[in-house]
Amino acid sequence: MSSIKENFDRINKQIIDTAVSCGRKPDTIQLIAVSKRKSAETIMEGIKAGAKHLGENYIQEAIEKIDIIGKKSASWHFIGHLQSNKAKFAVNYFEYIHTVDTLKLAKEINKQAKKIKKIQKIFLQVNISEEETKSGTGIKEAIELIRQISVFENLSLQGLMCMPPYFSDPEQARIYFKQLGQIKEKIMAHNFDNISMTHLSMGMSNDFKVAIEEGSTMVRVGTSIFGRRD
Ligand SMILES: *Cc1c(COP(=O)(O)O)cnc(C)c1O
Repeated sequence: MSSIKENFDRINKQIIDTAVSCGRKPDTIQLIAVSKRKSAETIMEGIKAGAKHLGENYIQEAIEKIDIIGKKSASWHFIGHLQSNKAKFAVNYFEYIHTVDTLKLAKEINKQAKKIKKIQKIFLQVNISEEETKSGTGIKEAIELIRQISVFENLSLQGLMCMPPYFSDPEQARIYFKQLGQIKEKIMAHNFDNISMTHLSMGMSNDFKVAIEEGSTMVRVGTSIFGRRD
């Protein structure tokens, strides 16, 4: 089994190679190491290996680990489903929240951020494959939701996030990544006040190369860095 350091270096190299081969600047792509269900000890190994961005999915689990590791030891990204009643914790612990998909949640995050005088960086999660069981706003609703979010003073919308269905052949995910980029362009064309989205949060262990080819600026890679989850 290869070490976390070897995995991290390999993924970083693949990101750079993929960027170069499609004519993008490698430093426009950030690697988020996804550490859900991994111990604080394992995460610290990741940080030692060079991970600067870490992704977590479950609030309670994340808080326990971040309290051990330190909020300042990395840039923390919340990438799991977030319930409004947990928004307070997400705001307190995470620099980025990738999974905003309702007005209710955006409102609550804004309220909690205001309390601690923070401008919370968020992503709008889009249900790009329009599967009923998945989180994310519908494609049609995305623009209206952004119009509503644009008035919240303590939110800073960074961009869009998606999670296409799993395909063993990552080429099949390409259409969804492409679509998310098109939705972003469409939103930018509206020129909403206070909205200057720059990021596309897309691509996981299995499909991050295709995501980069389609414009991803933040790839979220877990298994290929930290190994399989129990
Ligand atoms: C778990 C998870 C990832 C990482 O998935 P891997 O296949 O382990 O790389 C990325 N994004 C989200 C939203 C996740 O829940």
